[in-house]
Amino acid sequence: MDFLRPETLAEALELKAARPDAVPIAGGTDVMVELNFDHRRPAALLDLTRIPELREWSDGLRIGSGVPYVRIIDELGAQLPGLAMASRTVGSPQIRNRGTVGGNLGAASPAGDTHPVLLASDAVIEVASVRGTRMIPADEFYVGVKRNALEPDELIVAVHLAPAKGPQQFSKVGTRNAMVIAVCSFAISLFPEENRAGAAVGSAAPTPRRAVDAEEFLASTLDFASPKPLLDSVKREFGELVSRAASPIDDVRGSAAYRKHALAVMARRTLGWAWQELLGQKNGGGEHACA
Ligand SMILES: Cc1cc2nc3c(=O)[nH]c(=O)nc-3n(C[C@H](O)[C@H](O)[C@H](O)COP(=O)(O)OP(=O)(O)OC[C@H]3O[C@@H](n4cnc5c(N)ncnc54)[C@H](O)[C@@H]3O)c2cc1C
Repeated sequence: MDFLRPETLAEALELKAARPDAVPIAGGTDVMVELNFDHRRPAALLDLTRIPELREWSDGLRIGSGVPYVRIIDELGAQLPGLAMASRTVGSPQIRNRGTVGGNLGAASPAGDTHPVLLASDAVIEVASVRGTRMIPADEFYVGVKRNALEPDELIVAVHLAPAKGPQQFSKVGTRNAMVIAVCSFAISLFPEENRAGAAVGSAAPTPRRAVDAEEFLASTLDFASPKPLLDSVKREFGELVSRAASPIDDVRGSAAYRKHALAVMARRTLGWAWQELLGQKNGGGEHACA
């Protein structure tokens, strides 16, 4: 197996163009598992860890694909609370030290924890090849089970994600509290100035996906500028619409029926928490609320 070690992004793109069969490796927390279990025997690995551009983030926000979870939590938690919440649930400290959002996107597992947040928050994925750069909205990035929109010569360079415009929440159900693949997950981002919310489900369909009807329901029902306490009927209807957006399967982690039920519960709860925070902000408090 060839081990390719570019020092710059330009060099990495040249190598990927010349060797489209080379498998990129960032934190290696997915790739090394596949190699160790002999699920994959690539002719070449393309090591991305020496490329400084991929490990930087800049205001705006443009987050290099190689920024590990621990830095998202420590450095970007205030600006991207939803992504930080999801990052805190990934694996263990060791996995969060190595694992990256770029790797989560590269693997494109329906159960990847960052995906619902990226969808709910209107993220755009920057990918590049020697042919140029493409900006792919998150909801066009996931094209099938563990398949993404990358061409064989492309690399994920960065994720563009504006600092939170309002409260954000992420919730994940697993068989235990840590080191667990999501049975299902849910993210919500409020955009009060646009009178709307983003909502997306994970591990509940062939790809992570937005709950579009649920988003439209909130936009047409709620007044984000002058928020009033939420009616239970609104939370229930929102939960139902989120649950209907999913098309889960029965598998070792949970049944389809359980996933649908859990999504409705998570959607109701996270909407309640996010709305409570919005109410606090509008009333001059700005505190985080509990259920
Ligand atoms: C013990 C354990 C626990 C885990 N827990 C969780 C969890 O709770 N939640 C969760 O979501 N995941 C979990 N994972 C999976 C994994 O940690 C994440 O998917 C992580 O984000 C992968 O990032 P990485 O940098 O390690 O990716 P890598 O393993 O380096 O790469 C993953 C995939 O992305 C591709 N890739 C990487 N970077 C690029 C790039 N720049 N351009 C194009 N393709 C690229 C690789 O070729 C590969 O296909 C866990 C893994 C382990 C081993």
